[in-house]
Amino acid sequence: MHHLSTARGLLDSHDVDAVLITFIPNVRWTTGFTGSNGLVVLRDDGAHLLTDGRYRDQAREEVPGEMEVHIMSNGLDSGLADEGLLAGAKRVAFQSDHVTVDRRTRWGDMFTDVEFAPVSGLLTHAAGVKSRDEIDAIAASQRITDEVFDELLSWLRPGLTEKEVAAEIVYRHMKKGAEKMSFDPIVASGPNGALPHARPTARTLRDGELVVIDMGCFLNGYASDMTRTVAIGEPDDDMEAAYAAVLEAQEAALAEARAGMSASDLDAVARDVLASHGLDDAFSHGLGHGVGLQIHEWPRVSRTSEDDLPAGAVVTIEPGVYLNGRFGIRIEDIIVLEEEGCRNLTGSTKSLTRID
Ligand code: ZN
Ligand code: ZN
Repeated sequence: MHHLSTARGLLDSHDVDAVLITFIPNVRWTTGFTGSNGLVVLRDDGAHLLTDGRYRDQAREEVPGEMEVHIMSNGLDSGLADEGLLAGAKRVAFQSDHVTVDRRTRWGDMFTDVEFAPVSGLLTHAAGVKSRDEIDAIAASQRITDEVFDELLSWLRPGLTEKEVAAEIVYRHMKKGAEKMSFDPIVASGPNGALPHARPTARTLRDGELVVIDMGCFLNGYASDMTRTVAIGEPDDDMEAAYAAVLEAQEAALAEARAGMSASDLDAVARDVLASHGLDDAFSHGLGHGVGLQIHEWPRVSRTSEDDLPAGAVVTIEPGVYLNGRFGIRIEDIIVLEEEGCRNLTGSTKSLTRID
């Protein structure tokens, strides 16, 4: 999967003679190259990938045929000069949000006649609108996570530690073909659940408590992300009521989500439902985030977001409530924005499951 022609459009839209793409997820998005070291140079008369000797064969196989691959043994930037890739360029756009001050200084020293034009978010919006193949890739990644959750409901039991549950989640994702986890799984029981980004501890799962489980993996480079909250034994009335409120908030957001909507309006749909239950103060983060080659990417779905949600954006919808010292609840699905609504890529059950 590559988006070379879209990326080449940057030459015109930014009115420059060359574009440098240095941020690795964007290198992959542009070229299909999956290596960890790469620099893309786009010119009117050619497209170039610079990488190192580890990727000699792989780079050639992965990038589109019209791209030239340059194997550099002395650092990628040396190739800009040695291979003459910026010859004649007056203005060159670069990813100012992903280039160190040192690197920018080096470029200036190497090319005294070039004007380097800083662009923040050079490919952020373009990469935020997913193609059908990318949506299929995210759905395939999420299917692994759904399977792991479905199995988890049969092996989860009181007495396991949070760490044991997290280890099993990682093992089962890998066994099903995941490349790696998209983030360290969160398994947060009882009061630990009130910390939205808790790390798994040696605490054992206990009767009468809730457990927040947030997990996802990479498959073919694309991330999955899902949260479910389950009850160990019998939840109390407060837990059941809060769970019902979070689920209502999530379902309201799923029902309203559609392309063209502002991200802050979508956030407000869920927040208003929680407010009607007196729980909006306990919802301490944004409603969701984009997912793709990165686990967190544009667009942000939050109160302060100024983004509109384009058709083809893939975002999470993950309202939660966090009651200090008591418990936490979060329910997270991953959706695609469409003209008339949204498509949910998550298949796991959302009714409050009791584990005995
Ligand atoms: Zn998550
Ligand atoms: Zn998430």
